[in-house]
Amino acid sequence: EVSIRELSKSFSLGGRQLAVLRRLNLDIRSGECLVIVGASGSGKTTLLRILAGLEAADSGGVAIDGKPVHGVGVDRAVIFQEPRLLPWLTVLGNVAFGLEVRGVPKSEAEERARFYVALVGLAEFADAYPRQLSGGMAQRVGIARALTVQPEILLLDEPLGALDAMTKIGMQEELARIWSEENVTMVMVTHDLEEAIYLADRVLILPKEKGGATRLITVDLPRPRQRSESRFVRYRE
Ligand code: ATP
Repeated sequence: EVSIRELSKSFSLGGRQLAVLRRLNLDIRSGECLVIVGASGSGKTTLLRILAGLEAADSGGVAIDGKPVHGVGVDRAVIFQEPRLLPWLTVLGNVAFGLEVRGVPKSEAEERARFYVALVGLAEFADAYPRQLSGGMAQRVGIARALTVQPEILLLDEPLGALDAMTKIGMQEELARIWSEENVTMVMVTHDLEEAIYLADRVLILPKEKGGATRLITVDLPRPRQRSESRFVRYRE
């Protein structure tokens, strides 16, 4: 469980302070899929970056299971709109890279990477290079790379924003499947309301208003899909 308490963040912009998040409070339930929507500039990316530990709050903070979060951690993985793959490494190499830099032996890293490459449907492309992939395939590699480190929380910043409509629908199904098969909490930012309703347990609307504390509007959605324990395929050593 993630608890955000009295979180404030402002930026200095042209000599004045722009208060983006103002004493924000939010609890994220373990295993839920929380989707954040809101107008451009409302602070969605800022909130996600603070959760990821890529940005520091001015005051207040984030705790995971009661422990305050400072900086990045292996418990959280981020997926951006552009996967930013390393062009000199293969698909498998890109996915294994995050494990190798954490000191996991190469053979073990590759074995685990192969599992996640297959999970996102790219087994046949394991030895391909990023330049040989379509945008949707590259984003799948980005998702596999994030899953390989087995984070508890997956933070997604408009992960499907750059994809064409058809690819996007396939990838939304992919994300729903991964969410139901992996024991992961997902926090996703999107501009696509249909996508939010399709994927979310809760949609959170970040208002863009001046003054006072940031008041979130949350919408709980009934879920036809259930997590199925029997289909639990998380890689185990
Ligand atoms: P969008 O939907 O357009 O991506 P957003 O809701 O994700 O927007 P943020 O990217 O979080 O919004 O930005 C919120 C506000 O904070 C914007 O007004 C932006 O100009 C400002 N901002 C964000 N990062 C910085 C920064 N590093 N320096 C100065 N201002 C910033």
